[in-house]
Amino acid sequence: MGLTLTLGCVGEAEIAEALDESADAFSTAPGEPNHEEITVTALSFLKPSVLTALKVGNVSTDVAYHFSNTAHFDDCNFSGGAAFVAAKQAEAVRALGPGIPLLDGDALAMLAFGRSLHAVQDFYAHTNWVELGGDVLVDQSLTAFPALAPYSAIPSTGFIVVQGDKPKRAAVTRHADAPYPEYAIVTVRVQRTNKYGLVSGTVEYEPGNYCPPPVAMTHDELSKDKTSLTDRTAQHLAAKSLAVQQTRHEWCRLNRLAHDAWGDAGTARLAAWVADPSSAPDCGIE
Ligand SMILES: [Zn+2]
Repeated sequence: MGLTLTLGCVGEAEIAEALDESADAFSTAPGEPNHEEITVTALSFLKPSVLTALKVGNVSTDVAYHFSNTAHFDDCNFSGGAAFVAAKQAEAVRALGPGIPLLDGDALAMLAFGRSLHAVQDFYAHTNWVELGGDVLVDQSLTAFPALAPYSAIPSTGFIVVQGDKPKRAAVTRHADAPYPEYAIVTVRVQRTNKYGLVSGTVEYEPGNYCPPPVAMTHDELSKDKTSLTDRTAQHLAAKSLAVQQTRHEWCRLNRLAHDAWGDAGTARLAAWVADPSSAPDCGIE
């Protein structure tokens, strides 16, 4: 579905107000706007109108990509989720280039970047990253979001991406009868070495389930995306904190990718989104 962001001859307060209303309309968790909070906390240095546009792009992902596991890192579709993030950020970078009128390009870039933020935030809430003890980001590079190929090891933690049929000589197991959070711990055993296995919850209405049956868990069994799940408050807070850090990091990645594509003109476009440069992260881009 399309979103029209009218950034014409109106004041920033009016834009923010109009967009805030549409953000409410898209919110799928009334009373608990987690994606909105994460985005604002991570990127508080941006102009209010930019933050609102990013929130709309983010939250409307649940509507526009309702049936797609890639936009939410569901169904153990890690390579699909990673490709979604990379594609949306590439789209944002293209929109910041010459050839697209300035305001149209900015609106498109905010929409696409907001969508990528939705997926990286869902990553921590929908996978067992936190239950496995993951307390660092899935990726801190400044190149395009990495591929997360099936049964590859994630460099930051060594977790193995569990996606699709297991390799022939590997064993993929978990203790399904254990209480939470123990039951969420997946082990991948290869050549007598145990490693942690990264999975995400399955969602029935999203086609394509890549979780191997012995370790598959439903979205409800694994998600920690709201405070009302009182048996997993600590995990919810840990996932939210990582989502904030990843979101802040994605701002730097976007700056780097825009600089790679368009040079200083690319980063200048993004600098115009910033209200308070002193609280923006130092992305190390000259
Ligand atoms: Zn989602």
